[in-house]
Amino acid sequence: MTAPTPKPPATSAAPTAAVQLTAVSRRYGTGGHAVTALDDVSLTFPRGTFTAVMGPSGSGKSTLLQCAAGLDRPTSGSVRVGGTELTGLSERGLTLLRRDRVGFVFQDFNLLPSLTAEQNVALPLRLAGRRVPGARVREVLRQVGLGERARHRPAQLSGGQQQRVALARALVTRPDVLFGDEPTGALDSRTGREVLAVLRGMVDREGQTVIMVTHDPVAAAHADRVVFLVDGHPTGHLTAADADTIAHRMTTLTTTPESPRTTEVATPC
Ligand code: ADP
Repeated sequence: MTAPTPKPPATSAAPTAAVQLTAVSRRYGTGGHAVTALDDVSLTFPRGTFTAVMGPSGSGKSTLLQCAAGLDRPTSGSVRVGGTELTGLSERGLTLLRRDRVGFVFQDFNLLPSLTAEQNVALPLRLAGRRVPGARVREVLRQVGLGERARHRPAQLSGGQQQRVALARALVTRPDVLFGDEPTGALDSRTGREVLAVLRGMVDREGQTVIMVTHDPVAAAHADRVVFLVDGHPTGHLTAADADTIAHRMTTLTTTPESPRTTEVATPC
């Protein structure tokens, strides 16, 4: 059994930031074939807030998520998660950070079909040799509205319920931040709204920080803030916007031939 990684106190420089990116760039390849997936991105994601990240295909959304979560290393710049600077961390340090301090949900639920909901929630910690308190597993299943379904297997649950099991699995370690990569992309609009309502509730009631990539303006409207990326750079944001306003902004983004390299959200906010 290994002990959980202790959470260092947040630094005085950014006491309320769950995630902070400063001048982050990510380039793939070299020379004439180099692609700049992220270009000098500075963004602050305050604790207890819900941010949606939107932009055209290829604008750098996945790369942003992967760099912010310690799944990928930026070419330059700094990423801090919960006060920890990721730049100098070893591979082992990054693995521990991803295990203990970061949660992920993807479009596919990735549940093991032979395990019950509670066994799926506990599995990642068990695989890491960690003790999994049953009370914590039940608590987090209750938080996602599945307290009565703990013994159900994935096939006995709807798509929305399966995604809520995946949410519970991502939240069981009380991560500093929950990342979602199109978490409602495989769901119909009604079950998608159920999952979004759970995410919103985790932010409002539990103070969870959520960062979600989505192409769906209705999903993004559940967020406090929508950050728009074009060509690897933030080009602006909307706060507490409705789906129509977000959809309109997306249309403007994709039809703008040359994206302005503004710093509207480039300064920590
Ligand atoms: P999005 O998620 O917005 O579709 P990505 O972050 O996947 O955008 O990609 C941003 C840019 O970086 C694209 O031009 C993509 O082709 C490029 N890219 C992403 N990953 C790699 C990689 N592993 N190797 C080379 N280029 C990549």
